[in-house]
Amino acid sequence: MTIALLGCCLFFSYLLIYIQGVDKMINYQFRELAKEILDSKYTVVLTGAGMSTESGLSDFRSPTGIWKEFDPMKVATIDALINDYDNFHRFYTLRGKSNTTATPHEGHYILSNWEDDGLVKSIITQNVDDFHKKAGSKNVLNIHGSIREFRCFSCGREATRDDFINRVPCNSCGGKLRPGIVLFGEALPVYELEKSIEEVKKAELVLIIGTSLTVYPAAGIHKRTSGKVVYINNENEVKKKFDMVIIGKAGEVLKKVNEEILKLK
Ligand SMILES: [Zn+2]
Repeated sequence: MTIALLGCCLFFSYLLIYIQGVDKMINYQFRELAKEILDSKYTVVLTGAGMSTESGLSDFRSPTGIWKEFDPMKVATIDALINDYDNFHRFYTLRGKSNTTATPHEGHYILSNWEDDGLVKSIITQNVDDFHKKAGSKNVLNIHGSIREFRCFSCGREATRDDFINRVPCNSCGGKLRPGIVLFGEALPVYELEKSIEEVKKAELVLIIGTSLTVYPAAGIHKRTSGKVVYINNENEVKKKFDMVIIGKAGEVLKKVNEEILKLK
């Protein structure tokens, strides 16, 4: 009995020491990253779905992600737009709705403040929700487009969200309306992609936030830098080499790093 009790005490002591050790290590990382950001003359941020989940938007590839419910190849493609517009339209009406109720979180505002303070030069985002711009970031490259914009699939004429939702045909050519996002199989917008590569090449520091780096070419952009690359994500599924890896939720990590920046300034 006494031995069992002693064993139990020892186990919990070790557990506590371990947890404190992990905590210390993580806090050390926040400070180190804060120093890197303050030292860097050109910092570029690359964000993915993990940046938006704290705003209440589902991500795509996690176990509770959007692609567990919908098959991307059936709804998010040019083929679906042409041959199965009902499903295509239903999916993007649903996604558009969740986007209008969700709002940027503290992490988006921190990045926007960093840009105002000259600590961030630009944000390259795979997210189509426009939260970075909503939070006040100015130099944002939407490499996968925006779900808040709509246009005609046939002639490219701009359209309104209401017309898309109400399935009103294009008022110029009668074509089908679509959201202004990059569908599977479509090329990325040339200007945004070229500008993103230019930004990453100039960067002394690249912060990758909330992306599993699965979808190319976005997943390879950071490789064009000769600067340091820091990877921040909720899960450590990326088996690639980075100068620093911080496991945690985007908003929470940015908040901690920002606190360290304020202390060091
Ligand atoms: Zn048209």
